[in-house]
Order: sequence, then structure tokens, then C-alpha cells
Amino acid sequence: MNVTKRTKDFKLLGIEALFRQVKPFMRKDKRLRQELSNRTAGYYGEKNLDYMLRTYPHSSAHALSAIRLKHKNFDFQLDTVILTNQRHVILETKNWAGELVYDPSLRQLVQLQADRKIRYPCPIAQAEKQKRNLNGWFLENDLPVLPIETFVVISNASTILSNPQQDQLFSKKVLHVDLLHERLDTLFPSNTRKTAPSSLLYKMFHFIQAQSFHRFEDILRKRNITQAQLITGVSCEKCWQHPMIRQARNWHCIKCGHVDRNAHIQTVYDYFLLNEMKPATNGEIRTFLNAPNRKVTYNLLKNMKLKMSGSRRHTLYHPPPLEQFPQNSILPDWS
Ligand SMILES: [Zn+2]
Repeated sequence: MNVTKRTKDFKLLGIEALFRQVKPFMRKDKRLRQELSNRTAGYYGEKNLDYMLRTYPHSSAHALSAIRLKHKNFDFQLDTVILTNQRHVILETKNWAGELVYDPSLRQLVQLQADRKIRYPCPIAQAEKQKRNLNGWFLENDLPVLPIETFVVISNASTILSNPQQDQLFSKKVLHVDLLHERLDTLFPSNTRKTAPSSLLYKMFHFIQAQSFHRFEDILRKRNITQAQLITGVSCEKCWQHPMIRQARNWHCIKCGHVDRNAHIQTVYDYFLLNEMKPATNGEIRTFLNAPNRKVTYNLLKNMKLKMSGSRRHTLYHPPPLEQFPQNSILPDWS
């Protein structure tokens, strides 16, 4: 199956940026570490799902990941949607760990993990809601409406699924990622998997990709984190001392002596992530980097080849598209 490349989403890149940019004592915050851990695990769970899809033999199927579409006055996000000539499939991915117990009468899922019980809304209902949204979106955009199937895929291999009342809907809809091929076989008999993608399918695939967008939230405000709780300047990626000192076209760490020409680059990306991906002025970025002056900042930003708008003192520097952000940025130890 053809699968579009998945990159880290705004929420994961944002929490990574936050973890780098908060003052060291804040990095001990349990909730922050938990969120970073959950989002990282969720991302790798989805990558694993992508691998399963990529190895599924179906020549006309296209899987799109992390799609956000606007329908009427709201938007909705699909973790993964598979498009084929005959039908589409929505996969809602969950990375919940521990034991998941389903109660069909209350339509809820209870997670049992380390003496804790957490109630989650029914993911089957959630996936069905996404199906209605996608159907509505197809109609709104004059695209043909094909049957849509939904599944909830548990991407954590060690999660135990319990269905004490043997609810048939749960058995049919919720599965571990390792059983995905088997489940897709029930939808796509082998003789239907060898057909070439129709031109309409290509059109839908590109149209959905073109219409998909990101939503950037205010990461700091959402977590009540103030500017005073953030560090100033560029951190040393060897020992996390900050600020590094800019001298002779290099950043110098006064603690461990590390010298790095490009240490500012990740800090500039982090600035954008922590500020809703809004364009920024030289002054705003200069303060955040603790750079010596306007000229140095100008040269650093120019070399990053960021898109610019406005002129002279009103120049704004724009972040690159989210997909182009570094995917393997270094983090202070959090394990
Ligand atoms: Zn250092």
C-alpha cells in the first residue's frame, strides 16, 4: 500500500520545544514528562501502523496520515485514512497502555494501569463520528461518497484488551496493530487488491492532501507557563548550559567548552513552535536567542533561508512548513 510520509505533529514538536526551553527545574515536572512520553510513544505507535500498512499488498490503496479538514464551521482530524477504488477506511489509533476494559452498556473504555483507573470515551463512537464528518466533507466538496469502514487500532503491542461482555461491536471494531492485515483482508479480498488506482482516486487523494491543514495552539498559555519560566538564549546540546555566548561566528558553552556554529537553529524553530508558528521580527528572535545585535541576528536568520515578508525594520521571518522541521532534535535527558 502507498503510505504518505508521517512527520511529527505540532503537538509533539511543541512539547519537545517546551521541554528544551523551560528552565531546568521545570523539566522535573511530572505532567510535562508524562505528556512528552505519551506523545512520543503515540508517534512511534503510528509509525509502526504505517509500516504495517506499507507492507500490506494492495496496489490501488493510498493511506494518508494526520489529515485535518474543515467541514462547515469546525474541523476534524483523522489519524489515518485509507482510500481505495471501492471503499475507504478510517483508522483511529490509540496508544493506551495497561488493560483496557470495554463496557458496552455505558459505551466507555476503562484503562487499568498501575493501580489507576481512567475512563476514556468510546473510541468506536469517536471513529464513527469521524466517518460522518468525512462523509459530510465529501458531499460538501462534490466528491463521490463511497462506503467508509472504521477501526480502532491499538498500537501498543503489550496492551491487554478485555471485552468481558463479549460485545460483538467491540470485537469487530477494536484490534491490535499486529492483526491489521487480517482485518483488512476481510474488506479487500485478494482479487480486488490488484486493480490499478482510478483517476478519481488520485484526484481525491491529492484534493484531501491539498485541503488538509494544521492548527497551531498556544502551547505556553494552554499549560499556564509564563515567559519567566523559560530560559533565555541558546542551550548547549552537550551539557544544556545556557546561554551560549556568540563569538567569532560560533556559539561557545562556558561550562563544557563545546563550540557549535549552528546551535541557534533549533532555538529559532523552538521560538516558532512556542509562539503559535507566527512570523516574528528580528527583535523578537534576537531576544529569544540572546544574540549580540541586530546584524548578527539578521545574518543568522538569512542563512537559515526563512521566508521573509515586509522590508527593513518591519521584516517578518516566517517558519518553514511544519513537515520541514527537524525530526530528530536533541532533548535534555528525560527518561
Ligand atoms: Zn556545554
